Amino acid sequence: SEPLLQVEHLKKYYPIGSGWFGQSQQFVKAVDDISFTVQKGETFGLVGESGCGKSTTGRSLLRLIEPTGGKVLFEGEDITALSPEALRKKRKDMQIVFQDPFSSLDPRHTVQRILEEPLIVHGVGSAKERKAMIDRLIDVVGLTQSHLQRYPHQFSGGQRQRIGIARALSLQPKLIVADEPVSALDVSIQSQVVNLLQDLQEEFGLTYIFIAHDLSVVKHICDRVAVMYLGRIVEIADKHKLYSAPQHPYTQALLSAVPEPDPDKKSERIILQGEVPSPANAPVGCAFHTRCPMAMEVCRTHRPELAETDNGHLTACHLFTDAKAAESAGLA
Ligand code: SF4
Ligand code: MG
Repeated sequence: SEPLLQVEHLKKYYPIGSGWFGQSQQFVKAVDDISFTVQKGETFGLVGESGCGKSTTGRSLLRLIEPTGGKVLFEGEDITALSPEALRKKRKDMQIVFQDPFSSLDPRHTVQRILEEPLIVHGVGSAKERKAMIDRLIDVVGLTQSHLQRYPHQFSGGQRQRIGIARALSLQPKLIVADEPVSALDVSIQSQVVNLLQDLQEEFGLTYIFIAHDLSVVKHICDRVAVMYLGRIVEIADKHKLYSAPQHPYTQALLSAVPEPDPDKKSERIILQGEVPSPANAPVGCAFHTRCPMAMEVCRTHRPELAETDNGHLTACHLFTDAKAAESAGLA
């Protein structure tokens, strides 16, 4: 398969402080130089605790917020270089599903109108053709014609998310960024929405970037997963590798918190020290060193780069990328 999306050195920095008194300008590095590739038809997971930059990454990819630097190649074309008009056209191909479908659906409009709006904005079809498209959309997300004349508040959370998905699908996109699409839903409803997303992917050949804060949600739906910590990707691997042989100490800790029904496979829960530092005050060296059970001297001063440690498995940790560090930790 060929890549649909190539993200190269993507950055999103927010300036903090005024610099009035001659201090140098400081930045919150919400997304700090991340690179990854997503194949056509793949589901690529972006996972990490709140504030790690995963939502900012999702929005920067679509230029719903403007990246500070880097490139986003969609079918080989750099999205970050598009004019506003060209970007508006490109948005047909790249849509987003939000965590909270209630706040993202206009409460004053019927479902019919909510679904028709993107079609009108992009000049798709006649009124009659649009109606036929909407009838089909409401059907593929498991709702009925009678729902079209109702308002968002008349639906349950799961149904509202189905409407949010229908809206994202209306322009027949190639890529959908799903930003914690099931986090706000009851656990019993989550798997229904995940199953729906999987069915739609198969039917329409969609590519997903699936954002989640815990590794249990992405386990079923993703092909590969990137783990983020403080604005950077610390590990990328095929799902099976990530779950069976996680390398980065942060991934190991996240996974140890995922409930494991098989007691033979259950490893001991790794409790991390302290809280995630503020992104405004990210530690130098390895940003994880203040909480890492394996931290070494080199980790306080030198930032590990994401590097391939195994076929298709990338990790940003001195234990893997610096032979001397591994030696000093007694692992070599
Ligand atoms: Fe831990 Fe050092 Fe690896 Fe960072 S580089 S994860 S601090 S061992
Ligand atoms: Mg978020």
